[in-house]
Amino acid sequence: MQREPELEHYLDLIASKFSTTPRQEARARSECLGCHKVITDAEFATWSEAGQREFDISGFCEPCFDALFADDDESWILGD
Ligand SMILES: [Zn+2]
Repeated sequence: MQREPELEHYLDLIASKFSTTPRQEARARSECLGCHKVITDAEFATWSEAGQREFDISGFCEPCFDALFADDDESWILGD
């Protein structure tokens, strides 16, 4: 999937509201930008495929992502 620069910028903006840790840095540590929990491989494996994709894209763990975007159609961020 090709990521749009605008989407990257928007995700950085969202991330900066929750964390002072740069998105890439948090991602490298598998740290959620919302709850600052380091996500283990074992935990990651319990998420839905969509949740795993969300973490990969947004840097928010599945519970945080669901809380943030609960009522929204996720297609804006996930594309197709
Ligand atoms: Zn989280």
